[in-house]
Order: sequence, then structure tokens, then C-alpha cells
Amino acid sequence: MKQDIRKLTPAQLKDWLVQHGEQGFRAKQIHEWLWKKSALSFDQMTNLSLPMRELLNNHFEIRPLNVATQQRSSDGTIKSSFRLFDGNLVEGVLIPALRNDDPDRMTACVSSQVGCSLTCKFCATGYMDRKRNLDAAEIYDQVVAIDRQAKENYGTSLSNIVYMGMGEPLLNYKNVMESVKLITSPEGLGMSPKRITVSTAGIAKMIKQLGDDQVKFNLALSLHAANDQKRDQIMPINESNTLEALGDALNYFYKKTGTRVTFEYILFYNFNDTLQDAKELWAFTKRVPAKVNIIEYNPIAEANFKNTDPQTLDKFAGFLESKGVTVNVRRSRGKDIDAACGQLAGKQ
Ligand code: SF4
Repeated sequence: MKQDIRKLTPAQLKDWLVQHGEQGFRAKQIHEWLWKKSALSFDQMTNLSLPMRELLNNHFEIRPLNVATQQRSSDGTIKSSFRLFDGNLVEGVLIPALRNDDPDRMTACVSSQVGCSLTCKFCATGYMDRKRNLDAAEIYDQVVAIDRQAKENYGTSLSNIVYMGMGEPLLNYKNVMESVKLITSPEGLGMSPKRITVSTAGIAKMIKQLGDDQVKFNLALSLHAANDQKRDQIMPINESNTLEALGDALNYFYKKTGTRVTFEYILFYNFNDTLQDAKELWAFTKRVPAKVNIIEYNPIAEANFKNTDPQTLDKFAGFLESKGVTVNVRRSRGKDIDAACGQLAGKQ
């Protein structure tokens, strides 16, 4: 079986070339074809000699990520199902700006795992098994594919990337970090890390690791309840990563990086939408400099949660604002094609 060439570091590729009688500087050219130019075959590498392309072809493969299906929402959101080299499917979403809502924003939401091992009760992916982690190239390729869609459909490149698709990014730490490195490196897509947000369900140990690694990207915590008893009910990961532990970890992250975190909070009807819940959330925001994104819920067939009503939402957000908390209310996008937060499940 041929080796996946994109699993080699530039240094390893250079060594391999030298061992096979080629000049080491070719590694840089090949690296550029593989990442910056997203070549799909060695034949495209026209600045390499034919024998060299043949040599590479005999030993290596470039694993493709193909768009299996694509659906367009009435609000302009485009959801893609991507087929990986082994037949598994993951989903990614292109979210263009709403008319008056930051017109230059063009966001890609990408997956980090096939399925998910966490079992958040409100999330369609949480009802699938985790099959495997994505490697860095598979995450990178989603960004490239969605960027292409942005250019084709909206004439502009991506402005933001969120790791909020299928999977828990911090349980695929090494590959997620590697993918961010590729997306931000001048040899890759050259995007600013400030345009990237990694969203976690809350793995305290790995949040501290992000702090130790002094990452430059943004971190979001899917909070959804600021009381352990309620959070346990909807996010079983909370039993081993309590709010106390998460608060400590986020504080550590903030001290190491200086980056304000974002709390994602879905307002579920009659579950976490009371004034008491808002007070608990306010208390939790005092643990670490943070802003709050209130997200509209998208019902899924597997669960019984409902979105709260607009008046309750206004009251909840108003209370937080009156306490000086920065609150953004995020309207859901792509609901009609199951592309909204929590709805990605590889349905075709
Ligand atoms: S919300 Fe995220 S962490 Fe939770 S089950 Fe869904 S994909 Fe996994």
C-alpha cells in the first residue's frame, strides 16, 4: 500500500528524497504543491521532472477529500458532506454573512472526528459512534473545499474558521493543532489564528494544554448550563469535567494566552432559560474574562428539546447585559438543510 505523502514532515520528505538520489530542495516545491496549491496528483507538479513524478507516484498517494453531496439553504448556507479516502463521511458548512451582520464575514465550520465519543443529548452527532479522528490533512482539506465554495458562490475567500462541526476537537488534539498550523502558515493558507475558533464541550486537562502551548486562536466552551446538576443531564462529559474544573482550566488558559474565551449557550425551552439560570451564568462569567454567545436551538429527531421563546431570550440576554456581560445572540443558519449547530450527523 502506498504511503500518504502528507503524513511526512518537510524534513522527512527531504530525507526520503536524498535517500532516493534526489536533491533535498525539491521537498519545498513538493510541500508547496501539496498544501498551498492543494495538488490532487503528482502529474500536476509540473516543475518536477517526469521521472521524479513517477518515483513519487510509485511510493506515495495523495489522499483526496471529495464532496459527496452539497445542499444549499434558503439563507445561503451551504452544507457539504465530504467523503474521506476510506469511505467515511464528515460534514462541513459554509456560512455567509447575513445582510447587515458583519457583511465581510464568510465562515467555514469544519469537523474534527468521524462521529463523536461524547454524548451531548441535544446534538445529532452525539447519537453516532466515534469512528476515528481526522488527520490534519482531512481537516485542512475541508477548509480548502469550503474556501473554494465561498469563492465560487460569493466571490470571496473565507474570513473565519470554526471547529464546531462533528467531533470534539480537544480529543483529537495533535491533529487539530497540526491543522491550525497548516491553515495559518504562509506555506499553507496563511490565515490569521485570530480568525480561528476551536470549540470544546469542556475537557479541562486539554484546555490547560492549550494554555501551555500558548495558542493564538480563540477558544469557545459549549457551556449550555452553568450548574453541574443541569449540565450533567445534557452533557455527560460534565460528570468528569465539572464547572469548577472548567473554570480553573479556563482561568489558566486566559493567564497563559491573554485571550478572552467565549461561552456558547443554547437556550432550551423550560430547561436552562430562567432568570435563575441567567444568574448562574453571570456568576460563571466572573471566573474568567469571557463573552457569551446565545445560540438558537435546532431541534433534532433524536431528542425532545425545544428552542426558548423570543421574550424569554430577550429577558435572559437583557439580564446578562445589565450586569455588564458582552452578549451576542446568534441566529441559527441552515436549519432547513440540517446544517445548523448540533444538526450534523452525516444524513444524506
Ligand atoms: S456537541 Fe460536540 S462534543 Fe457534544 S456530541 Fe456533539 S459533536 Fe460531540
